[in-house]
Amino acid sequence: MSSPAEKPANFIRNIIDADLASGRHAQRRWSGRPGPGPQQAAGEPDTARIRTRFPPEPNGYLHYGHAKSICLNFGLALDYGGRCHLRFDDTNPEKEEQEYVDSIVDAVHWLGFRWRDEREDNLYYASDYFGWMYEFAEGLIRSGHAYVDSQSAEEMRANRGTLTEPGRNSPYRDRSPAENLDIFRRMKAGEFPDGTHVLRAKIDMASGNINMRDPAIYRIRHAEHHNTGNAWCVYPMYTYAHPIEDALENITHSICTLEFEDQRPFYDWLLERLAELGLLERPLPQQIEFARLNLSYVVLSKRKLIQLVAERHVDGWDDPRMPTLVGARRRGFTPEGFRLFAERIGVSKADSWIDMSILEDCMREHLNEAAERRIAVLDPLRLIVDNFPADAEEDCEAPNHPLKPELGRRPVPFTRELWIEREDFAEDPPKGYHRLYPGNMARLRYGYVVRCTGCDKDADGRVTAVHCEYLPETKSGTPGADGVKVKGNLHWVSAKHAYGAEVRLYDRLFSAESPGADGRDFLADLNPASKRVIRAQLEPALREAAPEDRFQFERHGYFVADRVDSAPGAPVFNRAVTLKDSWAKGK
Ligand code: ATP
Ligand code: MG
Repeated sequence: MSSPAEKPANFIRNIIDADLASGRHAQRRWSGRPGPGPQQAAGEPDTARIRTRFPPEPNGYLHYGHAKSICLNFGLALDYGGRCHLRFDDTNPEKEEQEYVDSIVDAVHWLGFRWRDEREDNLYYASDYFGWMYEFAEGLIRSGHAYVDSQSAEEMRANRGTLTEPGRNSPYRDRSPAENLDIFRRMKAGEFPDGTHVLRAKIDMASGNINMRDPAIYRIRHAEHHNTGNAWCVYPMYTYAHPIEDALENITHSICTLEFEDQRPFYDWLLERLAELGLLERPLPQQIEFARLNLSYVVLSKRKLIQLVAERHVDGWDDPRMPTLVGARRRGFTPEGFRLFAERIGVSKADSWIDMSILEDCMREHLNEAAERRIAVLDPLRLIVDNFPADAEEDCEAPNHPLKPELGRRPVPFTRELWIEREDFAEDPPKGYHRLYPGNMARLRYGYVVRCTGCDKDADGRVTAVHCEYLPETKSGTPGADGVKVKGNLHWVSAKHAYGAEVRLYDRLFSAESPGADGRDFLADLNPASKRVIRAQLEPALREAAPEDRFQFERHGYFVADRVDSAPGAPVFNRAVTLKDSWAKGK
């Protein structure tokens, strides 16, 4: 079977294609829930052709990088008729919080992916597997593949060796299985304080791969766990827990980032031993590494994100400038844009930097197609149509979407006093300026052609209003509309009807391509103009925008009604992206 035709090949798809072609996973059985080999073997043939998983630790908010991993894992499962599990990797007792679990569930849903249908509900907590992990550890002890080490942490470090020197065997390495089992059970029973003993895999202290030098697999930790409470005082190490989680869930392709490449030999060693012991069924899950997402102009490191929030450089985790998915959502970025982005950047084996403009372009591309058009004057200047009756009102019609006539048109009221953009008038126009200046004609989009007659100024010489006269026979959409040719085409809003609203003009949070490069403090690269709050004049229909409604404000960019600060009938808007990239190099 070949890759779904419309998707470009990549090395992960090639692996899956080959596995499906060879029938490697065809005989797997699935009991309907996670469990050891014998339980799965007694189940039905697995209807999922592949199983992948997204395994976040619930210790923070998801960011753009996680979106890549989510789109990859859930996307592969969809494309290949498989399943993707959402698994909370919550084996570390002290760190997890319900708040993060909830926000991760929301974020994956928001991106458009599901782990539950009428047949299966694949939402799991790794901490539910502690019992099996413990049993498996006893199995390794009994078969001579694990031992209790009682060296101090310093001794263990000193005996581990270096990249060029082999390690030295622990004096406790030759304890008998019976003695190891006894101490391990007493560790579990709570007889020893933290740090007195650890359980280690017995592999090879001279291995060229330091991760294979008898890695620790269980430690004593007298800590309460959010899910299991005080049931346990020994906890598995991540490198031990993760392969087992995959195997218990029948995962076929365990996709992770490159820094785990050196862990793969241990991943395979461990699962092989457990399969030999009859605790797991073959075929075993396969770990595949890909390059994590690095984005220019963005920091994704958890430590730096925490600092941005804690020191109030941003207004919280969901600040629209934050690279979190809650931030992206408030910003007006879209799930479709993220999925397009993930597809466009693809996956590779080599670390690279992706330019932020690629993500922004993906958002533009989706929003251009999806967002209805509306009119907004962001820097309002009054335009007075002197020959239009003072109390008259006339509806003009504006299309909701130029590419989608089926979305219809809406009336926008035309009156004597309008708002236009301040930059659409120039008393002394520069060369090539086609908008309003005394004596020039321009079209008021969806309305009339007007001829500028002058302006009013205040004592400081600042323009306070522009005057014009309209040409009645030029109304857009009427037979004579094209009779007068003009080059300028401006947007406007009736002053009497306008909805004066708060609009936040967001831009990139950092102004340097790699924040904090060359030894700078990354905070020194914060973009001082990343947020500008203005009072804009919007067309009246925007008063009715619901939270998260997204629009193109013509000539300006894409905006979303803020989901937090909008009140019914009084939305405030956030700019997601401008219409064009203003950061392009050389500009
Ligand atoms: P931590 O430092 O706490 O481990 P993390 O960012 O790795 O942080 P996890 O919750 O462990 O967070 O990540 C869940 C999944 O998301 C992992 O499978 C990880 O490989 C993937 N992931 C994390 N960051 C990126 C990134 N920048 N690009 C692609 N995938 C990522
Ligand atoms: Mg991690």
